[in-house]
Amino acid sequence: MNSGTTSGSSLQDVLRSIERHDVFVLTSHARPDGDAIGSVLACGHLLRALGKRADVVLSDGVPILYRPLPGADQVIHAQYVNGQYQAAILLECDSIQRTRVEGLENRFLINIDHHHSGKPFAQINWIDPSACATAEMIYRLAKEAGVGLTPEMATCLYTAVLTDTGSFAYGGVNAHTFELAAELVRAGADPGRLAQNVYFSNPTSKMRLLGAALSHLHREGPLAWMYVTRADMERAGAIDEDTEGLVNYALGIAGVEVAVFFRELADGQFRVSLRSKGRLDVAAIAEKFGGGGHECASGFSIEGPLSVASERVLAMTRISGGLA
Ligand code: 5GP
Repeated sequence: MNSGTTSGSSLQDVLRSIERHDVFVLTSHARPDGDAIGSVLACGHLLRALGKRADVVLSDGVPILYRPLPGADQVIHAQYVNGQYQAAILLECDSIQRTRVEGLENRFLINIDHHHSGKPFAQINWIDPSACATAEMIYRLAKEAGVGLTPEMATCLYTAVLTDTGSFAYGGVNAHTFELAAELVRAGADPGRLAQNVYFSNPTSKMRLLGAALSHLHREGPLAWMYVTRADMERAGAIDEDTEGLVNYALGIAGVEVAVFFRELADGQFRVSLRSKGRLDVAAIAEKFGGGGHECASGFSIEGPLSVASERVLAMTRISGGLA
């Protein structure tokens, strides 16, 4: 944790910090999802509208599905930041490490996050779990700064809200979420085109990998799990981002309350994705393994082999959910 850390900063604190600096670097977490990409791009557009210089740096680059977003082609794909930036804005991260970008440590850090598991690791920490996506916080920042939403900003923010609410399907979705979406559409986001980019533009490798994952589907009452190994990924010609969303197929089964997806990494560790229909808080389970996320969607990494990792995770899930 940096000295001078503020655990409960507000939107106004963020705005004041932005006013005091001119050159920013923006980043988000490794293996970025729709909210990470949409928020970081929109924040970049917002800073530039305020007359600032802003570079977006991501350790894993922009996944194919999000490359049509305005500004995605200017993202710097790097694991190290060494420019003369006066401040760094980290979106959707509970630590500097989660960015997997080095060179941020000794900079003035602004942390903007909507996770319950968000942590005050920066000098300015605006964490608001009531926001449906970090994108909603960027939207509020733009309003407070008096910057009119451009079609570019609205397009990035809408994509983030669409994906982080599970296409407006998660438990926290309410009238306010639709009001936000409506305002983004009025500002120029095209819902049909954006849904098509995200849901109907999958590479063939992802569909092949889905086949492998489904062939490893296990069911135990309200619990379902599946996995993909490195060999499955190689056979499918898949890359890491092709695994995004596969867990939802296990959760989509009638009577299943919790789904777990294991993905083998090159170093023998496993990435774990947990999803819940709402009866079980999967963020609490992920936190027990050093990860985090939301009540209905969380994740973490765990040592292999698969048999050991899966038994540890499934045992904890059974106990937490009263499923044992
Ligand atoms: P996914 O399963 O798609 O990787 O992640 C689902 C949710 O859990 C996302 O909101 C993501 O930010 C969060 N999450 C996934 N992995 C981690 C992790 O290792 N640490 C933390 N803090 N959150 C994670």
